[in-house]
Amino acid sequence: MSPTVGAIGVLDLQGGVQEHLDHLQRTGVAARPVKHAAELAGLAGLIIPGGESTCLARLLTIFGLRAAIEQAYGEGLKLWGTCAGAILLARENVGEAPFFGLIDITVNRNAFGSQLDSFQCEALAPAVAREPIPLTFIRAPKIVRIGSDVQALLQTDDYVAAAEDTRILVTVFHPELTPSLAFHRYFARKCGLSVAEADDAGLDPGWTPLSWTRFTPHA
Ligand code: GLN
Repeated sequence: MSPTVGAIGVLDLQGGVQEHLDHLQRTGVAARPVKHAAELAGLAGLIIPGGESTCLARLLTIFGLRAAIEQAYGEGLKLWGTCAGAILLARENVGEAPFFGLIDITVNRNAFGSQLDSFQCEALAPAVAREPIPLTFIRAPKIVRIGSDVQALLQTDDYVAAAEDTRILVTVFHPELTPSLAFHRYFARKCGLSVAEADDAGLDPGWTPLSWTRFTPHA
């Protein structure tokens, strides 16, 4: 595949890959999956999706993508980690070794409990959208510390749910599993791509709860 300059890639090893690609397409941004190091060429940004961070860490190493992503980041690639992706990007991980360690935050993995403690809610992230946006937490981590060069974009009582520094965005929830395009627009702008500013929650009218399941009922 030839490089698409100005596109956003989605790391395609495990987890919520297609859902991010679909949301980027809804946002009007050129997007493509990234399975091999050569596919990083020309990207403005890369999303490391949610999934399972231990599994992703192993696959990143096996596929030779760890060093390639670090190099591309050093050359200006912007990164967004959702959930497991945020765990991989964090500088500190309570009780475990960090993986990339590129953003000065501490995450506490599985801090809400088991898979059954996953939940949905709504919250306002003023820098991202002017209306509250829907949030989906799936066995999420909590961001329990942010460094002085990191800004909280969404904070509740005892944890930060979204944060950024100049080159990295992290969210512990999954915007790609909701109708809201607000975070995808926000990341695209962070990558220097031109997308309309969201003046609302960025809800896509064509999205349904089944959009991401690819569920086609049999007649
Ligand atoms: N619990 C997973 C982990 O620790 C993350 C879950 C997710 O990405 N939704 O890697």
